[in-house]
Amino acid sequence: MPAAAGAVGMKPAAFRYVAPADIDEAVAVLAEHGGDAKVLAGGQSLIPLMNMRMSRPTALVDVCRIASLSGVSANGGLTIGAATRQASVAASPLVADAWPVLTEALSHVGHPATRSRGTFGGSIAHADPSAEIPAVLLALGGEVVAKGPGGERVIPADDLFIAHFTTDLAEDEVLTEVRLPRREPGVVSVFSEVVRRRGDFALVGVVAVAQMDDDKRVRSSRIVLFGVGEVPFRASGVEDLIRGQQLDDSIVAEAARHAAQEIDPIPDVQGSVEYRRELAADRVGLALRQLTTQEGVPA
Ligand SMILES: Cc1cc2nc3c(=O)[nH]c(=O)nc-3n(C[C@H](O)[C@H](O)[C@H](O)COP(=O)(O)OP(=O)(O)OC[C@H]3O[C@@H](n4cnc5c(N)ncnc54)[C@H](O)[C@@H]3O)c2cc1C
Repeated sequence: MPAAAGAVGMKPAAFRYVAPADIDEAVAVLAEHGGDAKVLAGGQSLIPLMNMRMSRPTALVDVCRIASLSGVSANGGLTIGAATRQASVAASPLVADAWPVLTEALSHVGHPATRSRGTFGGSIAHADPSAEIPAVLLALGGEVVAKGPGGERVIPADDLFIAHFTTDLAEDEVLTEVRLPRREPGVVSVFSEVVRRRGDFALVGVVAVAQMDDDKRVRSSRIVLFGVGEVPFRASGVEDLIRGQQLDDSIVAEAARHAAQEIDPIPDVQGSVEYRRELAADRVGLALRQLTTQEGVPA
């Protein structure tokens, strides 16, 4: 094979590498490059894209050496530094205690090797519509903090995911931390997905979070599907349908049918629109049934 043909698509185009010591320096370098630089976190999505020349940043700003961006802390809710490795979040007792649904979801994100490099915030900033972490963030009603040249701002998960691989983050902003609310008494949650092989991105998945009353009626819920469109999708029709209801067989069946119709899946080699609708109905049905078997934290 000619050398040139072998080289194309295998290695990234030349770029400047910067490893700033703090967030202000990271923001300054991003601003200096005027949209041509990219934040490098775990590199598990960005580097393959660069190797295939689908992304050609002139500079990479490595945020993984900024100590303040790593770690998990509990403060009523949870605060997770954007550059915290996915494996560390998965192993965190604080996370397992506050939101076991997140610990469960993380075990489905790629493989041990990708989780040991990939970061929590990197997955959110990358915004793959089939990714688990963005869906959990949305289902829990969390928020992220972004820092740019104009200072810091807080973006609720409901406003974060704009389109395929696109968030509300500006090119010169660094995602610094992710905040998850406290788990209130009576709140139960379920994660479920369909994959062809363990570690693959989901064909369809669901994260269901519900506040149950003492008589097992749903007071409120956030039902999020992923792998079913351009962004993680909040099934508000299902949420409306189950509000005030006990999750018996007939309401679960109706909600599952509703979910299948509510989504707008994009067909690809992994599955047709009809197949994804069937999977969505199946997963929502399963998740709602499982919600009824869970115990929330006591009041
Ligand atoms: C074999 C394999 C299997 C995988 N399977 C799955 C899977 O099943 N589910 C899943 O969800 N993911 C999967 N992934 C992707 C993995 O979870 C990545 O870790 C994640 O998508 C990106 O995180 P990262 O830290 O590696 O980010 P990077 O690849 O470094 O960056 C990704 C993008 O986010 C931006 N970015 C990163 N951090 C920040 C920040 N702090 N502020 C602003 N922008 C930022 C970057 O500029 C870039 O555009 C897989 C990856 C591989 C290689």
